[in-house]
Amino acid sequence: MKKGTLFLVATPIGNLQDISYRAVQTLMDADFILAEDTRVTGKLLARYEIATKMKRYHKFNMKRQNSDVLSLLDSGLDLAVVSDAGTPGISDPGQELVALAVSQGYQVVSIPGACALITALVASGLPTKGFYFVGFSTKLDDKLLAVDVPLIFYEAPHRIEKFLQKLQTFFGDRRVVVARELTKLHETFYRGVLSEFVKEPEKIKIKGEFVVILDGASSEQIVDEEVILQKLEAKVLAGLSKKEAVAQICRELSLKKNAVYAISLRLKK
Ligand code: SAM
Repeated sequence: MKKGTLFLVATPIGNLQDISYRAVQTLMDADFILAEDTRVTGKLLARYEIATKMKRYHKFNMKRQNSDVLSLLDSGLDLAVVSDAGTPGISDPGQELVALAVSQGYQVVSIPGACALITALVASGLPTKGFYFVGFSTKLDDKLLAVDVPLIFYEAPHRIEKFLQKLQTFFGDRRVVVARELTKLHETFYRGVLSEFVKEPEKIKIKGEFVVILDGASSEQIVDEEVILQKLEAKVLAGLSKKEAVAQICRELSLKKNAVYAISLRLKK
């Protein structure tokens, strides 16, 4: 018997016109649409007169839902997964289900479309040859300091001011692009350096959705000296010798020993 196909359908991130003909057709043809929030997806379906029935598929109770979804595929039904906005599986439910479907031999088809990180990156003015997508980050990992391509963050509405402060404390000063309300009426790109927006937070309107793109570490100055100094201090305070602290930082951040040793000379006795 024919097995069903799992379609991942990207939906708009604000402007309802940002959806492909193929995406609309796929949503029309599917036996069911698995939606993160049926009210949100309902508006899109109404706009394009799509009558397909929806089932909820969200991050809570995912295990049980995944096995239900696999049985539907097994019975030959075609399913379209959508999230509230953008590409499913990118900081949204979908990835675990795809991994399961792939491992069990079901066909998975991706219908491309809007994705906030790509929409922001291509208009940022920062290099696009490579990038590091962090997504939502509760804790910043030290390994990010040495990443030498733009770092892309998602941030929840209303937290942008605190988030930029957190980035400056962690990375030191760097070029940053804040993309607000992409594809919507009040779309704005703020381009500058972190210190400028931390000193004058009113420069950025805090209402709305944001993607933050931070320039990667440059090759001449891989990581801000002040940041290295703080890390050395913390390690020495935690009981390491200066030499051990230097060696650890070099390993963790892939830095040259001479450069970190030179900074360690500034450590207070
Ligand atoms: N799956 C989505 C995608 O493909 O981009 C991301 C969903 S994630 C739950 C929501 C986050 O994406 C927001 O907090 C914000 O950081 C970013 N985002 C989504 N839509 C946006 C928009 N129109 N403008 C700016 N950022 C947006």
